[in-house]
Amino acid sequence: MELYSQIADEIKKAKKITVITGAGISVPSGIPDFRSSTGLYAGKEENIPYYLSVTYFRKEPKEFWEFYKDLLQLKLQDTYEPNDGHFFLAELEKMGKDVTIVTQNVDSLHQKAGSTNVIEIHGNAQHSSCPECGTIYDLEYINKEVVPRCEKDNAVIKPGMVMFEEPILGFEEAYNATQEADLFMALGTSLQVGPVNQLPRYTKKSAARVLVNMDPTEMDHLFQYRAHEAIIDCFEKVKQQL
Ligand SMILES: [Zn+2]
Repeated sequence: MELYSQIADEIKKAKKITVITGAGISVPSGIPDFRSSTGLYAGKEENIPYYLSVTYFRKEPKEFWEFYKDLLQLKLQDTYEPNDGHFFLAELEKMGKDVTIVTQNVDSLHQKAGSTNVIEIHGNAQHSSCPECGTIYDLEYINKEVVPRCEKDNAVIKPGMVMFEEPILGFEEAYNATQEADLFMALGTSLQVGPVNQLPRYTKKSAARVLVNMDPTEMDHLFQYRAHEAIIDCFEKVKQQL
């Protein structure tokens, strides 16, 4: 139990908490982690970057949209609900902490759980936009046709998720929040994808760093506190010490 009481103590002490979250936090909500070996595209993971690239989107818009909708289970996106991992982070705000969440997920579950300061570096699956005129379209519209097109100019709509070959969003903001943090947590992310996986290097020397992920990561050595287990299990134990 020592690890969990130490994490609880760091939470109590911290004023500014910055959290990076990956697919692992949404797995208990039923959202498949397409990078994991048990994910939807197990064995074909190496093809995913191409199928989600700007090049493929421009070349084969129909195939792109079919793949994207299937991979993200876009018809179900509205039905997913946050789990105790998301709620735990929202509660930190209610405790009076200044919390910034940097998420690699596009599922909006942090906001649904009540977190107010969320940087979605890979965008958001709920809202797609026309690359020509910028009109925003919601999921209902996107799901109507196989290839969604803009009502105004008939351009093929761009997905709300950042595609491969596109820059991530809000990195500077994420970087600043990391530098200011008293407590930095990485949750449910394998920290394989740059530049986000470099964030733990940018914390203050005095900052506490917590990693919760099912499997060890290549960045584990950057964290004083490491729990290789499900986020909800870890926080359940931390909560008892808060
Ligand atoms: Zn348009």
